Amino acid sequence: MSKTTNKPNLFPRIYCSLFGHDYEISKKVTHHVKEYTCSHCKKELTTNSNGDLIELTPKFKEINDILERMYISRMQRSKKKTFASSIY
Ligand SMILES: [Zn+2]
Repeated sequence: MSKTTNKPNLFPRIYCSLFGHDYEISKKVTHHVKEYTCSHCKKELTTNSNGDLIELTPKFKEINDILERMYISRMQRSKKKTFASSIY
């Protein structure tokens, strides 16, 4: 694994430290969990199960991927029988 070989442009980082990040929703994982990307420095965040914003690490990307798949299949299933309420 190469750590920061392609250095991001320093300016967006300075901008963010001065003005704060400008996060946009980059992906809706479930009704509660979303992924955000800063439009300046490309820093990524996600919502954890407590609803807090945390850094989107590869581990959380994996978790979100699984969550998304579960969410979609649950949505499809819940159209046939109401089973979803037992999980949330
Ligand atoms: Zn930023």
